[in-house]
Amino acid sequence: MERFDVLVVGGGIAGLTVASALEGTASVLVLEEKEFLGGLARELSCKATNRCLRCGVCRAVEVLRKASFGIHSITGESLESVSWGKGVFHVATNHRAFAVRSVVLATGAVPFRVEEFPRYLWGRKRRIFTGFELEKKLKSGNLEDFASFSSCAFVQCVGSRSSKERRGYCSQVCCRYALRLVENLRFRFPETSCDLYYMDLQIFGDGEKDLRTIASSVSLFRSLPFALEEDALGVTVWVEIEGKVVKRRYDAVVLSVGLVPSSGTRRAGELFRLPQKEGGFLVPRPEDGIFACGTATGPKDIVSTIGEAERLAEDLLRFLGG
Ligand SMILES: Cc1cc2nc3c(=O)[nH]c(=O)nc-3n(C[C@H](O)[C@H](O)[C@H](O)COP(=O)(O)OP(=O)(O)OC[C@H]3O[C@@H](n4cnc5c(N)ncnc54)[C@H](O)[C@@H]3O)c2cc1C
Ligand code: SF4
Ligand code: SF4
Repeated sequence: MERFDVLVVGGGIAGLTVASALEGTASVLVLEEKEFLGGLARELSCKATNRCLRCGVCRAVEVLRKASFGIHSITGESLESVSWGKGVFHVATNHRAFAVRSVVLATGAVPFRVEEFPRYLWGRKRRIFTGFELEKKLKSGNLEDFASFSSCAFVQCVGSRSSKERRGYCSQVCCRYALRLVENLRFRFPETSCDLYYMDLQIFGDGEKDLRTIASSVSLFRSLPFALEEDALGVTVWVEIEGKVVKRRYDAVVLSVGLVPSSGTRRAGELFRLPQKEGGFLVPRPEDGIFACGTATGPKDIVSTIGEAERLAEDLLRFLGG
């Protein structure tokens, strides 16, 4: 049976940052269930206009480039079972088994699935998109439909900040990616006007000043729509503003979806019998050799994910006695 100091479960930006930081100091294996490394960040787009909007996506590209040299990884296999005792974890995928001294759960989060909420009508029509779809369109350069829209509404907090649905947490990234997408759309299609319906603008940290400037040039409405109705010519948005129900027409609507734990994060929580935070994010037990980082432990952006993973690599070295 192969032995490693560290098993990193999940080959997204968090897992790869830990593996790169430990390279040469500890024996590390990265296990990724998809056929490729890089995780969700790989599907996100650079949002630059004629200037960099500091979205952080190129930091993920750097991590991936660095990790492609020297780290030991297995792709296309996921963690299936685990048992532990006497300071050793015995873990197995569907093809092989390993003995490891510690585990890093970097199993990530996924965009909230609006299909599960019929009130957003997503998937049935052609004028309501998720922020994740718009990211992918921007990345592939396939924005023909947006070229023909002259008005667009962004709806924030989709899948987040709803205690009723047991997701009262803030997803951290969606106000910032939405404003950057607005800026990018307006740069490409200067005739397009964008409105944004929100609860709070969470745009603190890196690039805040720039984001405030973008926000000041968008029509902001501090209220979330309660219904969307689509027909062949556009989308009607129903929203209560200052105590009055109003309806507004747009050519398209973008739903700024937040982050929910991936199925791998949920499974890892069960396998390692970890406590969970609201929404199902993991609470690790580093004292027992079970570490976790990235969006598996809660929503965060790429820069925060990298910072957290670097600090975790130092903790791990101390745990391993290095
Ligand atoms: C729509 C959207 C837009 C965003 N835009 C931005 C942005 O502009 N800027 C920014 O900084 N951040 C943005 N983010 C956040 C960014 O995607 C995350 O910060 C980043 O992906 C976190 O990386 P991670 O490695 O923690 O998780 P992930 O990227 O989710 O990686 C986790 C990896 O673990 C693998 N995995 C899961 N379970 C298992 C298992 N059991 N066995 C093996 N492998 C497993 C998964 O396949 C995946 O590859 C956005 C997020 C969304 C949803
Ligand atoms: S930070 Fe974002 S907008 Fe700036 S160059 Fe990098 S990917 Fe593009
Ligand atoms: S980042 Fe903004 S849109 Fe996302 S959940 Fe928080 S407040 Fe809502």
